[in-house]
Amino acid sequence: MQDVIQVLQLYPVSVVLVTIVLGLLIGSFLNVVIYRLPKMMEAEWRQQCTDLLDNSDAASAENSTHFNLAFPSSHCPVCNHSIRAWENIPVISYLFLRGKCSACKTPISLRYPIIELVTGILSAVVIYFFGLSYLGLAALVFTWCLIALTMIDVDTQLLPDDITLPLLWLGLIINSFGLVVPLQDAVWGAIAGYLSLWSVYWLFKLVTGKEGMGYGDFKLLGALGAWMGWQMLPQVILLSSFVGAALGIAMIVLRGRDKNIPIPFGPYLAIAGWIAFLWGDYINRTYLQLFTSP
Ligand SMILES: [Zn+2]
Repeated sequence: MQDVIQVLQLYPVSVVLVTIVLGLLIGSFLNVVIYRLPKMMEAEWRQQCTDLLDNSDAASAENSTHFNLAFPSSHCPVCNHSIRAWENIPVISYLFLRGKCSACKTPISLRYPIIELVTGILSAVVIYFFGLSYLGLAALVFTWCLIALTMIDVDTQLLPDDITLPLLWLGLIINSFGLVVPLQDAVWGAIAGYLSLWSVYWLFKLVTGKEGMGYGDFKLLGALGAWMGWQMLPQVILLSSFVGAALGIAMIVLRGRDKNIPIPFGPYLAIAGWIAFLWGDYINRTYLQLFTSP
């Protein structure tokens, strides 16, 4: 293993290429998580509701459907054709199948290969940026979690606790070794991240009577604070408004967005958090120079 790492360190290009391939495979797994995790959560809530209401008929019906990240194996939702290994190669199989199920020719959504490709590219950027190090590996996991959260929030307006909470703990764990910031900054980052949006939420609710965001958003900002320390939180918020404005304008230009469609805040936070994790210090320095230089 040590030899492999040494060889890879000698050839940075091969590291980036290996990371792209790894990223493509992880992207393929993220597609499964993005599709199934919300359905698993819904099944669990349904189960809890029927338990609470003691509705035994519905409960027994619900028990019969068994569904998790590994089961059932991937299949075409239209004709149930189970997807063979060679049809499950990231991006390549999509091109080879010309974007259609091999059995019933139902088109496969373009988002699957796009998510695989984006995961591959962002993984390579992270390793190029941080190198083959503990920080680089942690940053990969950070990136993968943010991709899953972004897409699940776009689909369902939910940020699952199953991802936000482990992400927060992982941030505290890596900073207990001081990988990014001292542990004290990370702990206060988690607290300040959660409480700042929590306060905005209640203020907004008291003034307008509406709910502007969800508890998942607080947890996500808490997690970002745990990874980057409290000092980076103002920048994350500022960046997320830029990302929101940029994507909002793009949406209006591309498809004339209906103003009534709820816009989840999570993707903006996730994208801003990722940018800040890589370039936050650089942005801060440039920004300060603007004001301190004569
Ligand atoms: Zn099919």
